[in-house]
Amino acid sequence: MAAAPEHRDVLIVGAGFSGLYLLHRLRQRDLQAHLVDRAPSVGGTWYWNRYPGCRCDVESMTYSYSFDEELEQEWSWSTRYADQPEILRYLNHVADRFDLRRDIQLETSVTAARWDEDASLWRVTTNHGELTARWFVMATGCLSIPNTPRFPGLDRFDGAWYHTAAWPEDGVDFTGQRVGVIGTGSTGIQTIPQVAAQAEQLTVFQRTPNFSIPAWNGPMDPAAEAARKAIYRETRATARRGPTGDIWPESTSTALAVSAEEREAEYERRWHEGSFSFLSSFHDITTDETANETAAEFVRNKIRATVTDPAVAELLCPYNHPLGTKRLCVDTDYYATYNRPNVTLVDIKDAPIEEITETGLITGGTEYAFDSLIFATGFDSMTGALLAVDIRGRNDQSLRDLWAEGPHSYLGLTVHGFPNLFTMTGPGSPSVLSNMMTSIEQHVEWVDECIGHLSEQGQTTIEATPDAQADWDQQVHDEAYATLYPRAASWYMGANIPGKPRVFLPYIGGVGKYTEICANVAADGYRGFVVA
Ligand code: NAP
Repeated sequence: MAAAPEHRDVLIVGAGFSGLYLLHRLRQRDLQAHLVDRAPSVGGTWYWNRYPGCRCDVESMTYSYSFDEELEQEWSWSTRYADQPEILRYLNHVADRFDLRRDIQLETSVTAARWDEDASLWRVTTNHGELTARWFVMATGCLSIPNTPRFPGLDRFDGAWYHTAAWPEDGVDFTGQRVGVIGTGSTGIQTIPQVAAQAEQLTVFQRTPNFSIPAWNGPMDPAAEAARKAIYRETRATARRGPTGDIWPESTSTALAVSAEEREAEYERRWHEGSFSFLSSFHDITTDETANETAAEFVRNKIRATVTDPAVAELLCPYNHPLGTKRLCVDTDYYATYNRPNVTLVDIKDAPIEEITETGLITGGTEYAFDSLIFATGFDSMTGALLAVDIRGRNDQSLRDLWAEGPHSYLGLTVHGFPNLFTMTGPGSPSVLSNMMTSIEQHVEWVDECIGHLSEQGQTTIEATPDAQADWDQQVHDEAYATLYPRAASWYMGANIPGKPRVFLPYIGGVGKYTEICANVAADGYRGFVVA
């Protein structure tokens, strides 16, 4: 592990996909960069999330770096959607292959950062002392602060409890156990079938059912892999141009303009393709309630056809939000798991968990006994990791105060009053509404070119203007409210955390459009910024 330097040109926080790539890019310049991470290993979210069933729900041949053609050609994914251990191996391979570790300092938590006006640099406080840097990059991820609801009595539970995002490194053996899972988002939906196959009895506590599309995961077909590798450049370019950062075709037809038979045929085709392509079946699914309902009912019918007990099937059918407005889930055998004799679904929509007891939990006046509890209860998304650090800009302005009613940013990358601070895939950028890899590479390249350009010009600060920021905030809001997304009480809206302001967090205008906006801003001499 690298020792703490006194001063570096760039300090990056976070050794996930974005931090590692940015470190690599900055190395190509005459700039000294240093990266810190609180974990004992590189990997970011793929280090912490090691729960059973954890795997990427975007195909690995697109959810992987595109910046190095040799890496792209030499690496082989064993399955269509890689699991967490394989993605973590990949990130470790990247750290070694590009010799990144000499500038990475692990087990180092950043607690505060303050802009020093006189010296024009950031003073960053860590558990190992202070670091200073001209440029400060928070590459801390969108989903890295676990949300553990404060159920009364948790500390007196005699069994073991786990949050999926802080899973023990040595794993957990649930054989012979009675296990309770709270949460049925993407994580719950991945882990429930795995835990069900091991535990003696599994009880799932569901507050909101979600829409899930099958992954159809399986071993990588060597012929398909070779075919994709032969056109890798083209597919990567397609991903960067399109709205989702992925390569499936976007439909140009509207769901209501075609016959019911054609519509069903297209849903069926996309269902069998698997994953998020389903949401692109028709271009108005995310904007028109009636169109959306046709897709929603198609998925509900799949649930009804899979789950043998009609009452359980109905409980699993989502009705309280349009399909896709809470992030679509992608699963392997999720719905079929409820046909197992050792799995019980408990609806807690109208009977929240009242308390945790020594032996289990109480909901609706009934006590359930468990050996282990699993919290698949999500994250303080998008703003959580940024506000976990006490970041102070000009005039000691606190980012926490500034964002008390919701985040403000220019391009989701920078904040007025916080010079030289970059928020990778931050609120106000496409990030979680896209294939994260495409968005990460776009941000890294933009930030690297910005820092490189300014350094070459001998300029030392860049800061968003208040007008550019206000205009961007408005665009983020307007794009969102032209869709159905704000109707759901989702983590996109901050609705999963009690007291968090309800603001639509990501930029929904699409990756291609966003990339062009960012490129034009740079080409226009960093329009909307004051550079000095
Ligand atoms: P999530 O989508 O926020 O789901 C959390 C679940 O916990 C929800 O079902 C929620 O119910 C429930 N919950 C939260 N607080 C509760 C409470 N007090 N009582 C009862 N239930 C409660 O979190 P997640 O499943 O971890 O997924 C978060 C995001 O991580 C995903 O949307 C995705 O972007 C990412 N992810 C990605 C992958 C991947 O393969 N790439 C895998 C897993 C996760 P409500 O819906 O009612 O709030």
